[in-house]
Amino acid sequence: MEKTHIICHYAEIAIKGANRKLFEKQLQDNIKFNLKKDCPNCVEKTQRKRGRIVIVLSETGQNNLPKIEEVLKEIFGLAYFAFATKVDADMETMNKAAIEMLSELEFDSFRVTSRRADNRFLFGKQQMNEKIGAHIVETMQKKVNLDNPDATCFVDVLEDGAYFYTERISSSGGLPVGSSGKTLLMLSGGIDSPVAAYYTLKRGAGIVALHFHSVPLTNRASIEKAEETAELLQRYQRKIKLVLVELAPIQEQIMVKSPEKYRIVLYRRFMFRIAEEIAKLENAHAIVTGESLGQVASQTVENMEVIEEVTKIPILRPLIGFDKQEIVNVATRIGTYDISVQPDQDCCSLFVPKHPVTKAKLFEAQRAEEDLDVENQVKTAVENRDEIIIG
Ligand code: ATP
Ligand code: MG
Repeated sequence: MEKTHIICHYAEIAIKGANRKLFEKQLQDNIKFNLKKDCPNCVEKTQRKRGRIVIVLSETGQNNLPKIEEVLKEIFGLAYFAFATKVDADMETMNKAAIEMLSELEFDSFRVTSRRADNRFLFGKQQMNEKIGAHIVETMQKKVNLDNPDATCFVDVLEDGAYFYTERISSSGGLPVGSSGKTLLMLSGGIDSPVAAYYTLKRGAGIVALHFHSVPLTNRASIEKAEETAELLQRYQRKIKLVLVELAPIQEQIMVKSPEKYRIVLYRRFMFRIAEEIAKLENAHAIVTGESLGQVASQTVENMEVIEEVTKIPILRPLIGFDKQEIVNVATRIGTYDISVQPDQDCCSLFVPKHPVTKAKLFEAQRAEEDLDVENQVKTAVENRDEIIIG
């Protein structure tokens, strides 16, 4: 049976009360945009209907279901979707459609799962289940099994017709990107921060990426990796701004003037100060990092406390409870791993001490900074930033 439509079901959006319209609109926009980009001319139109988004497929779309499936599986805010066939909502036509659709499958037992979003329709869902079910039993000699059926005949009755399908395809869940404000992502060349970006986007927040580099003390590899990662994340957010900030002058000063043990803590205090300034310029309301507790010396709670003392803005750490292997698994699944493991020279690995402090003291960090021209260094770094728009 020709699949003419796609029924898309939201994840949590349905319960979002007054904001619901906005969430739905954002999700619809995101679906439209990504399908247009990756599967041009596949969609005739999209409609919002009774807690669902219905996509009307063009002929090109009907011939490209695998591609469309790939795209829809990665849309945040979608719980699941189904390729469906629309027929008139009268019992005779519906009975026929059920038989035609199920004839394409091999099964012994089945159930019918109906939903009626249009109250004008004559029958309730239970009655529909029974009527269509009885017709299938009679015509195909199959058994009903409500708990563990081999096949399910789904029927959604909406105001313009009945939609039939047999398979619900799980999507990514979460909330539509663009529905939960904007954040500033600290994007390194490492494995973790792209995964932190993924989970931030998954909850509907947009990202502006900030990458610190130490060119000309290092080569440009980390910048190229940040760009490639941002390009990959563009799958979830159509346009990504990548802000590049030079850390080398600050590091050179720290190297000359500060206690070796405190170098990383001091680098990071500067990074957070700069990140907060850029967040303000970008109208972002939180900083996101790929830190997870205890993974490296700078990621103890003591050090985090001393480092984030310099900022007021919330710091989000979506990976705080992840083991490294769990992060690697997600990075592999979303495709950022291969980029992240390419060799680079990270700015933070310049001049690092053999034994960095793991329980930093605030007064020590503050004392070290008395010898540094903190305010001017931050100002200059922000002023000299570069920006790349990806998308
Ligand atoms: P990652 O794999 O994400 O680089 P990591 O385990 O190497 O993390 P750190 O180097 O301590 O850990 O960095 C912790 C977090 O600080 C990173 O996840 C990232 O959010 C931020 N960060 C580190 N280096 C940079 C950088 N060069 N530019 C921007 N952010 C950075
Ligand atoms: Mg790193």
